[in-house]
Amino acid sequence: MPEHENRAHALLSASGSHRWMACTPSARLEECCENRTSDAAKEGTLAHELCEIKVAILRGEEVNESDYEKLLNDPMYTEEMGVCTNNYAEFCVETAKEENGLPIIEVELDLTAYIPEGFGTVDCVIVSEKTLHIIDFKYGQGVDVSPVENSQLMIYALGAYDLYSSFYDFENVKLTIVQPRLSAEPKTWECSIQDLLDFGERLKPVAALAFKGGGEFAPSEHTCLFCKAKYTCRARADKNLSTMFLQEKDPYTLSNDEIGEILAKVADFPKWIKDLEDYALEQLLAGNEIKGYKAVEGRSSRVWSDEKKAFETIIKDGTEEKDLYETVPLSLAKIEKLLGKKKFASLVGGYVTKSQGKPTLTLSSDIRPSIQDVKSMFTEEGEN
Ligand code: SF4
Repeated sequence: MPEHENRAHALLSASGSHRWMACTPSARLEECCENRTSDAAKEGTLAHELCEIKVAILRGEEVNESDYEKLLNDPMYTEEMGVCTNNYAEFCVETAKEENGLPIIEVELDLTAYIPEGFGTVDCVIVSEKTLHIIDFKYGQGVDVSPVENSQLMIYALGAYDLYSSFYDFENVKLTIVQPRLSAEPKTWECSIQDLLDFGERLKPVAALAFKGGGEFAPSEHTCLFCKAKYTCRARADKNLSTMFLQEKDPYTLSNDEIGEILAKVADFPKWIKDLEDYALEQLLAGNEIKGYKAVEGRSSRVWSDEKKAFETIIKDGTEEKDLYETVPLSLAKIEKLLGKKKFASLVGGYVTKSQGKPTLTLSSDIRPSIQDVKSMFTEEGEN
């Protein structure tokens, strides 16, 4: 099994499917862009490698101890990563027991029946008599990923169905996202095999078009977020710049409808500007020119070069050690983690109150009820 970071990547990857299915020319445009690895991506790779080894340990398989040690000693390893990867491994093994199935990890899939030159690796598949269960681990905490009609997981499910359907009589598919840094509980969505196969039929022509680089660019806050072409893509720039030339209608004020339309149009704007700034700085530092701009040293703050020696010197000089530290209480979430959920609830649950969330603007498609709807629900109940 190749190490996670050295794996080959398909042009039309399952993980990028939400992008190339919406913006079909994006995959070919990305080919011209340089690969950038971020710390978040490296952390994700390390966490996935730990997940793989921990599921194997829980299944009682022999693992290479020195490989495991190497991962635990990686400078990016943290206690939080240890807890998250334990949770994932326990979830996979326990769910497999409940479903009378086997957790098969890091399954390589042939996706060519749906996607030209398509292949991929799914974190975990549980196969049981009637159910095909796909489990995907996400260590990132930037975007809360939903399993509902998740194209990445549905593509994995199509590949896994092709692989195992001659041995099992599947009736339904479960798709689970384990994203422990954002959600304490894994999130699962279920559909029938027929729904999955219907998705596969819809996928085929889109994938064929994307493979050729055809179709229309579809810039949006979501499609461009992780696109490698997002810094220099002209379609994204055109879309964002077009919002600056609004038609003058009512002479002095905007209507509420217009404000809604503008907010929807400019959703990607702040991120686009930040991407342009990051790209321009990178270009300048690489010795290239950006018209009208230069890179300078920003504000810096002082840090100890040797904190231990500095503190020893201060204490020797007469300052008491206790005066050099402050005691800060742990957050409620950290104390809950320390005690465990049950003990926390029975011991101090009565001292916890939940304040009302600050009103936040979101799209009407958001599944949370609006504050006005909740208010009118209570008013109606009171009237009855
Ligand atoms: S940046 Fe956005 S519009 Fe441009 S190719 Fe990528 S996803 Fe499509």
